[in-house]
Amino acid sequence: MKGKKDSKKASSNKGINQAQIISRLKEHYPQPWTDLNFENPYQLLVVTILAAQTTDKKVNEISPQFFKKFPTPESVAEAPLEEIEEAIKSVNFYKRKAKLIKECCEFLVKHFGGKVPDSIDQLTKLPGVGRKTANVILVNAFNKPAVVVDTHVKRVSQRLGLSGSNNPDKIEEELSRIFGKEDWTYLSKAMVLFGRYICKAKNPDCANCKLADICPYLEKNKREKR
Ligand code: SF4
Repeated sequence: MKGKKDSKKASSNKGINQAQIISRLKEHYPQPWTDLNFENPYQLLVVTILAAQTTDKKVNEISPQFFKKFPTPESVAEAPLEEIEEAIKSVNFYKRKAKLIKECCEFLVKHFGGKVPDSIDQLTKLPGVGRKTANVILVNAFNKPAVVVDTHVKRVSQRLGLSGSNNPDKIEEELSRIFGKEDWTYLSKAMVLFGRYICKAKNPDCANCKLADICPYLEKNKREKR
């Protein structure tokens, strides 16, 4: 994944002070959390699939009942698709998600003895699991260093001048090079929250942002409006 072109691009991010970014984020989020409720890697895998284009609040509402009915990957793999659909029918795209959850669990049972693996290579073999979901699981279920790039992290990275790319894989690669491995887990959790609640897509709360004095976005915006 690392090309010559990308190396040049990442090394051009010279003005970035990664320690400053981490310490400012810590002022907002000293102990970042995840909004999705889960108790084990299997549950996190399922709720992450359910959360696509659905609010975390909605997922948290239905997940306790779901896990009561389907406590393990085996129970999902053995269930008729219609039963899984019925259990999640209040979330968007429930038919597609039910199929995906079933396929994922069948794959887990067949290839991993019903256990969610803890490596990026194995996780991305699961049906429908891309790098973002795999990294979410590594960080939040296994506490392993990984850089999560979702829509919030992508936007924040661009606004802070950490990446000029629109490609999540490239952004992940750039953030992985800019920040030390010891910061990846914190960064992944904090940037998601920061993007969701402060550096929002519409109307970012720049007035209350602890990174405002080091953020190039405001200046750039002013220039573009002139
Ligand atoms: S100053 Fe505004 S645009 Fe920049 S990081 Fe903070 S909230 Fe986002």
